[in-house]
Amino acid sequence: MKYDVIIIGGGPAGLTAAVYARRSGKSVLLLEAKSCGGQIINTPDIENYPVEMHISGYDFATRLTEQARALGAEIVLEKATDLRLNGSEKTVTTAKNAYEGRSVIIATGSAARKLGLENEDALVGRGVSYCATCDGNFFRKKKVAVVGGGNTALEDALYLADLADTVYLIHRRDAFRGEDATLARLKARENVRIIYNSTVTALRADKRLRSIEVTNKDGSVAELEINGLFVAVGRIPENRNFAAAVDLDEAGYAVAGENCRTRTPGVFVAGDNRTKDVRQLVTAAADGAVAATEAVKYLNETR
Ligand SMILES: Cc1cc2nc3c(=O)[nH]c(=O)nc-3n(C[C@H](O)[C@H](O)[C@H](O)COP(=O)(O)OP(=O)(O)OC[C@H]3O[C@@H](n4cnc5c(N)ncnc54)[C@H](O)[C@@H]3O)c2cc1C
Repeated sequence: MKYDVIIIGGGPAGLTAAVYARRSGKSVLLLEAKSCGGQIINTPDIENYPVEMHISGYDFATRLTEQARALGAEIVLEKATDLRLNGSEKTVTTAKNAYEGRSVIIATGSAARKLGLENEDALVGRGVSYCATCDGNFFRKKKVAVVGGGNTALEDALYLADLADTVYLIHRRDAFRGEDATLARLKARENVRIIYNSTVTALRADKRLRSIEVTNKDGSVAELEINGLFVAVGRIPENRNFAAAVDLDEAGYAVAGENCRTRTPGVFVAGDNRTKDVRQLVTAAADGAVAATEAVKYLNETR
């Protein structure tokens, strides 16, 4: 079967695109690598999405997935590994299948950036985490460290300060990029210690993380005994597999304006993985709507 629209990624952008494309009467296949919902799924409380004063990320993701499914989107849990173009034909491949589509919307969002330390991957789930709200509860009354200098790092440290015995916040510079108000709240907490001008240079573990090596710009090295390390050093757009069809900027974001079009006719990008200023649920959903509308226009013009 050839689909009118293949959507890669089942986050807020991809699911919204599915809603719009289905409501325009187009056949839709949505491929999702993990579980639908995207980055927001583990966030306990969303307060800035229009209409809802409070909604958990899980409820938001579940309701949007149900909406897309109820409208007739076919959702398949497979990771897209390649997008091949043959004239106007588009083939999206996964480890198991190859799917043909007349148009494609890439809505793959972004993934957490890693520190790049030797045993980092092996310690994920054994002391290393990229999501404080997901894993913070495992570190009640324990010692943890947060690495990073932006809002996510500051908010993670504040969140963990309510749970953990001690929170070290480690930043490679002498000033934070995150908001001053959050930093002031952190500084008022007795169990938070801020370590400036320093990077984590080694992870020490037996079966679990036991301590980290922290190296200061002046060359001095300290060992911190901790149970958990929360890495909040930014995110990487998930566009690597699709570079043949779309231009990427130096940070890896797919180059596209507000109309979500790429250099390839019939291939669109939507959400956090494209070049834009504001990466939020509401802008991801808006992109989904625009990309699907543009895809429908393309399909009708090239019928
Ligand atoms: C901890 C946290 C809290 C946040 N809180 C808020 C908030 O309160 N309010 C707000 O507005 N925003 C918030 N955000 C930002 C918001 O979550 C994002 O802007 C939004 O999720 C972006 O949606 P997206 O669909 O573009 O990408 P994502 O949510 O990243 O979804 C992309 C999806 O694509 C899938 N995918 C990736 N590659 C492939 C592939 N090759 N094949 C198939 N599937 C693939 C992924 O598994 C994922 O499910 C928060 C983000 C985080 C991390």
